[in-house]
Amino acid sequence: MITGDSPLVVGNWKMNGTESALSELGAMEKGMVYPGVKVVICPPATLIIPAAAIAKKIEIGAQDCHAGEGPAFTGRLSPSMLFGAGARWVIVGHSECRALAGETDDIVRGKAERALEAGLAVILCVGEPKEARDRDVEKAVVLSQLAASIPRAVGARLTIAYEPIWAIGTGVTPTSKQIEVMHALIRDALTDHYGDAGRCVPILYGGSANAANAAQLLATDSVDGLLVGGASLTADSFLSIVDAAAARREQRLSLAT
Ligand code: PEP
Repeated sequence: MITGDSPLVVGNWKMNGTESALSELGAMEKGMVYPGVKVVICPPATLIIPAAAIAKKIEIGAQDCHAGEGPAFTGRLSPSMLFGAGARWVIVGHSECRALAGETDDIVRGKAERALEAGLAVILCVGEPKEARDRDVEKAVVLSQLAASIPRAVGARLTIAYEPIWAIGTGVTPTSKQIEVMHALIRDALTDHYGDAGRCVPILYGGSANAANAAQLLATDSVDGLLVGGASLTADSFLSIVDAAAARREQRLSLAT
């Protein structure tokens, strides 16, 4: 874990939540008794403003952004609009956006670069589909996504999330070994690209993380935190995951002394 004493747990609410969901955020905020864990919730864009008003220990992120501040584009939200609404983070390149909205690596890179310029921290997602793993080409797929979509210059606010598509929303998770291999590959690619600065980019795991498996997923040394979808919708399950991250932090600190 390169973030060492500060694991990162990010909740992605996806297309879930109307105003009533803010009570869950309020409960999460109340339950945030883990100063050593950084926690981010990415609600739908419609809730960013009220969520930012509630969240004090938790930071608020957006789930996507436009790849620039213009030209006029109906329905899109620019990075600076999201920052102005209270978001401090943004997810880019989520597999659902890549697959369903036709988002290319080039578009993802543009989003990441413009978001960093606007002051947002970026969580950039990569991950292979099941058929790539079946054909034994998952490493090539992830490396090619990474090379073509990471920002040209690293900023202190870049995080990578490895999310195998076959693990998202399926209840299936990779083995620790599979995560370890892929995270090591991503780390090498980041240091090749950014030099020493690439060692400081956190790498999260995402895909069917939940209260029951969080401790095991976080036990893998190269996992700097988790990107959580379904299990981030309720305070109970999400706080259990944050609790597991806090326990893992304690364990690492005690091993280091
Ligand atoms: C996600 O969509 O980023 C995700 C990790 O979803 P889930 O945890 O529901 O698999």
